Amino acid sequence: MRRVLICLLMVAVGEMWAFAQRDASARALTVEVFSGRRVSSLNVTPAGKTESMRMCAGCQARAVTAPFTAKPRGDGVVLSSGNKAREVELDGAFRMKPEGETEGIGAAGVWRLITAHGEMRVLLTLDSERYVALALNGEAGANEPLESLKAMAVVVRTYALENADRHKSEGFNLCDSTHCQALRFGETPAAVERAVLETAGETLWYGGRRATVFYAQNCGGRSEDASQVWPGVAAPYLRSHIDPWCTRHGAAEWDAEIPMEKVRGVFRSEGWILPERIDAVRVVERTDAGRAELLEFSGAGARVPVTAGSLRFALDRALGWNELRSDWYTVTLSDGVLHFKGRGYGHGVGLCQAGAAEMAAEGHAAGEILSFYFPGTRVGVTAQDRGWESSHGAGWTLWTTVASSADLLREGDVAWGKARALYPPRVPTQPEVRQLPTTELFRQTTSEPGWILASTRGAKIFLQPEAVLTKSGSEEETLLHEFLHVLVESEASAQAPLWLREGVVEAVAGAVRGQAEAAMKIGDLDEALARPVNDAESQRAHAQAGKLAGALIDRYGLEQVRQWLRAGSVPPGVVMTLAQSPGQRAGRVPSTHR
Ligand SMILES: [Zn+2]
Ligand SMILES: [Zn+2]
Repeated sequence: MRRVLICLLMVAVGEMWAFAQRDASARALTVEVFSGRRVSSLNVTPAGKTESMRMCAGCQARAVTAPFTAKPRGDGVVLSSGNKAREVELDGAFRMKPEGETEGIGAAGVWRLITAHGEMRVLLTLDSERYVALALNGEAGANEPLESLKAMAVVVRTYALENADRHKSEGFNLCDSTHCQALRFGETPAAVERAVLETAGETLWYGGRRATVFYAQNCGGRSEDASQVWPGVAAPYLRSHIDPWCTRHGAAEWDAEIPMEKVRGVFRSEGWILPERIDAVRVVERTDAGRAELLEFSGAGARVPVTAGSLRFALDRALGWNELRSDWYTVTLSDGVLHFKGRGYGHGVGLCQAGAAEMAAEGHAAGEILSFYFPGTRVGVTAQDRGWESSHGAGWTLWTTVASSADLLREGDVAWGKARALYPPRVPTQPEVRQLPTTELFRQTTSEPGWILASTRGAKIFLQPEAVLTKSGSEEETLLHEFLHVLVESEASAQAPLWLREGVVEAVAGAVRGQAEAAMKIGDLDEALARPVNDAESQRAHAQAGKLAGALIDRYGLEQVRQWLRAGSVPPGVVMTLAQSPGQRAGRVPSTHR
């Protein structure tokens, strides 16, 4: 990670802000978790690093300590400690477990516990790219091919950003159920993470505006026109069309048998009047695509019309979801039982998930899948760009959303050459550099603060926009630092301490800056590097890690230090000696180790 002075960056970030706001391809999203469930008691436990825990009692912020149990009380929340608060705000990783559930949800972000209508409301504010990963995990099959996962990632992201005001009046953006998009917490499969990363910030656009998108599990061979399902919702790219893809793996047919007695019960609870005797049930109106629109229940000289949508909703709600899996069916009444024979799963509008997976399995790219299901739309991070495009550097790949990347490509070639000369790779490594077009998207993608210039995960490097990098110094220097990280990470054991990994990069790059005044303990260095409270502390920790690693390299040679990186630790004796004697390169002793 490269960090720069905040003041330098404020200027640049300010400039990027207007741009980020207008296009908003990334933003923090607040979701309601446990939506549709009654939470009368919530168990809260820390699940990793916690930044802050406080409650607002009469608007005086007071610290709280987890674990605790929270219950709704009046217009506030009462904790197991006996303290009552209007709301509780927790920043960090926590596990939230409603009473009676075994698992609960573990996630990091800003949590808020409030009470609304006598029930506990649990809100989580998280990065939009994290949201996309959770929703993709909830809505798509983990074993799907990468290209259909990528297509779905774009659709899920488009849906989220386009519907972010859906629950505005309730004080949050989206709920975690299928009403918005189903979120699945817990571990995210690698393929899902990859699909989200490779499409970072990308959404669908039409005529300079973000598109309105829908998706369904299986259209049964013919997608539905949006206006036939939701009056008032229409777009040229949401018209009904034949889908030859989903039917290649079977027709997605289903049957349902529902006794008339149960149907009567549902009608009663909905307040719909049925004649005493029902002789026939038939579909009297269908959409152009063939889905049922209006049904008629007739008997004893009366005819009762019911729309297919409200019938399906009422039956599903009363008898369990997925009783009627779509509106595409024929229905008959015999021996007091309604027999449905149907096809397709879901409303059928927009992207057909089964068809998309089939297209991907047959070799089609995400872009082709999206143009098939949303003809005329474009993929882009903003309304202007054409999404992520790659260019090839010498032994590395650059991904940008802007066409003019020649300078960065040239600087990258120099930096990658230098990095390999300074730290000859043991295994072939192909770094992938992704330059995010806005600081906000950089933050939402990496979960790093906006004052960090670049972040590396494995062989993947994420860069701030070019304007930010050039304002803060040299792009080449930043790239050299990150390429060295890629090389260090390619061989370092997962157990190797952060100070060693960061330190070796700093020392090898020859970029040890600043003075380690009042140096930190080695034990505290890792924490300061992983989660610096501010830029100054981060710089201090980097400088000290660099000096320590530099002294190790001077005394034992780079080869030996690399071996320790691979082994996962520096022998304790070596670190002690190092701390007790003057560092040659650094010229200063870390003062806390005397
Ligand atoms: Zn919702
Ligand atoms: Zn289909």
